[in-house]
Amino acid sequence: MNIDKYRQALTRYWGFTSFRPLQEEIILSVAAGRDTLGLMPTGGGKSLTFQVPALVSDGVCLVITPLIALMKDQVGKLNSLGIKALAIHSGMSGEEIDITLENAIYGDYKFLYVSPERIATRLFQGKAGRLNLSLVAVDEAHCISQWGYDFRPSYLKIAGLRSYISDKVPFLALTASATPQVVDDILGKLEFREKNILRTSFDRKNISYLVRRVEDKGSYLVKTLLRTGGSGIIYVRSRKRTREVAELLHANGISADYYHAGLSDELRDSKQVSWTSGETRIIVATNAFGMGIDKADVRFVIHWDIPDCIENYFQESGRAGRDGKPAFAVLLFTDSDKSRLEDSVRKKFPPVDRIKDIYEALCTFLQVPLGAGKDSVFDFDMAAFVSKYRLPVIETYNALQFLQREGYFEFTEEINNPSRVHFIVGRDDLYKFQVANEAFDGFIKLLLRSYSGMFSGFVPVNEDLLSRKSGASRDTIYQYLVKLSSMDIIRYIPGKKSALVIFTEERLERKALMISPDTYLNVREKYVARVEKMADYAVSDTRCRSLMLLDYFGEASDRCGICDVCRKRNELELSKYEFDLILDDIKEVLSTSNPDAEELAAILRHPGEKVIRVIQWLLDHNKIKQDQDRRLSWNS
Ligand code: ADP
Ligand code: MG
Repeated sequence: MNIDKYRQALTRYWGFTSFRPLQEEIILSVAAGRDTLGLMPTGGGKSLTFQVPALVSDGVCLVITPLIALMKDQVGKLNSLGIKALAIHSGMSGEEIDITLENAIYGDYKFLYVSPERIATRLFQGKAGRLNLSLVAVDEAHCISQWGYDFRPSYLKIAGLRSYISDKVPFLALTASATPQVVDDILGKLEFREKNILRTSFDRKNISYLVRRVEDKGSYLVKTLLRTGGSGIIYVRSRKRTREVAELLHANGISADYYHAGLSDELRDSKQVSWTSGETRIIVATNAFGMGIDKADVRFVIHWDIPDCIENYFQESGRAGRDGKPAFAVLLFTDSDKSRLEDSVRKKFPPVDRIKDIYEALCTFLQVPLGAGKDSVFDFDMAAFVSKYRLPVIETYNALQFLQREGYFEFTEEINNPSRVHFIVGRDDLYKFQVANEAFDGFIKLLLRSYSGMFSGFVPVNEDLLSRKSGASRDTIYQYLVKLSSMDIIRYIPGKKSALVIFTEERLERKALMISPDTYLNVREKYVARVEKMADYAVSDTRCRSLMLLDYFGEASDRCGICDVCRKRNELELSKYEFDLILDDIKEVLSTSNPDAEELAAILRHPGEKVIRVIQWLLDHNKIKQDQDRRLSWNS
């Protein structure tokens, strides 16, 4: 298979001169019609691995991705490159979805982005068979794993596509989260025809991973950031704290701003742009910051609060050093963080009865009668919900997560849907209407001048922009749109910002609501294991940080030499090999006896002074302890 035509597409549309590691292999594998699982860390360039082959082949590439914001971002980018792409997601009306599908079938489009819960709907299935598909790309494929950290039940329905599309269409699954268990789940649940896995290393050799045990995180930050340079991200857990920390830095003469999902879109955009351009040095943010950021020279990512799994930590810290130059990933940790992590397990798993209460409250709140609701989409105002039933926010959120995990419904992040307009009369009839209704003539001309494509489908419009262009107030613009809509000239869907709840099953009676103890316990166990791995990472001071992370993703490696653990160990002037040999021997001896340091050194077949240095190191790091008689034992 020849890579040249793919490289030409890469250069022609994106202006890039060469592929990144593994992109080529994935593209060729897909082009050969093979089901392929591509594993690459975030920022590795996964999107191009389906975009490039799809551009070169006939037909439409179906892209399944769970985040609506990301979907819109990608469709927008493709359109701006002159590539025809469409999206179908839950915020859209049935009519819009219908038109979009028709366009995808007849309109010479290259990409159709779909959110997973749309795939199993009758509307989609009815038409999908008529799509001329080139490829099915499943982005964020880890969402299919029930034991993973971001399970979405509708992902389980993706394999169902296989029954009504040609079996020549390959599936390409992509993820940055590749624990061995998740990998198995992806292959199985997507019904891969072969075990074809392509992966790049997750080793980020230029990142120094550091864990700092500091009681006063604020003064640590100020001190460190005054001493060092470069741009960075500080992740904190709460919105309130983003502001507090940014203010603290600011007060100490350090350029910083804050960012979280509660700010207006305009504000978030301007903050992000100013950070990306280097005007703001540091951004203090919740984990809402990250999607779609493209900044290569991030010198450090500091976590003020510990994330609840390695996947998230790896992904967030991995935003450092994309340019390949030395960078730092720092985790601040205190003993109280450890108990907070433990607490999070309790909060994450409300008692089963409580979960059922919340299910019933939700159904009442959304006015879903028993036996109804399947495939319905509801706007969901979480704040109104918890205040109406006086529910605790975090517990409620987690109960909803649990119900989602059980497959009763899904809920999406808050999304911003712009207003949309579609002319439902042809140009001739519109002209007649304009002649007969002079009052609307100016407004219709304004619309037609400002946007194109409104005769064939819904087009996003911006009332503010129309208001600025025409000098009329926003309300006047709105009134025009409503009026034209009631006269059946256009369809107008006013924009809104909301979260959605999508019922995947009909509402069940309380006693029929199955939350099987097995699943409950199993999911909790897996969750606890994930949290413990994260805590281990923070607490351990004997294993190379980089090794711990890679090990989690099932990758073997040598110790990095630049994390805090390795740096301390370097001071011993022992090779890793020697150190590990001596460590293993000490462990073995101490498992059956308790010699003192001199005796231990005498027993082992290593140079005495080296053994003493390793013992000292282990004592310093609380791995072994010494009793009053100076006898040693392993500290477990
Ligand atoms: P992922 O999905 O793996 O997190 P993306 O597909 O979003 O990563 O790509 C991350 C960035 O890398 C994007 O800005 C993209 O344009 C850029 N990129 C991808 N492939 C290449 C390439 N071959 N050459 C240069 N830049 C690339
Ligand atoms: Mg991606």
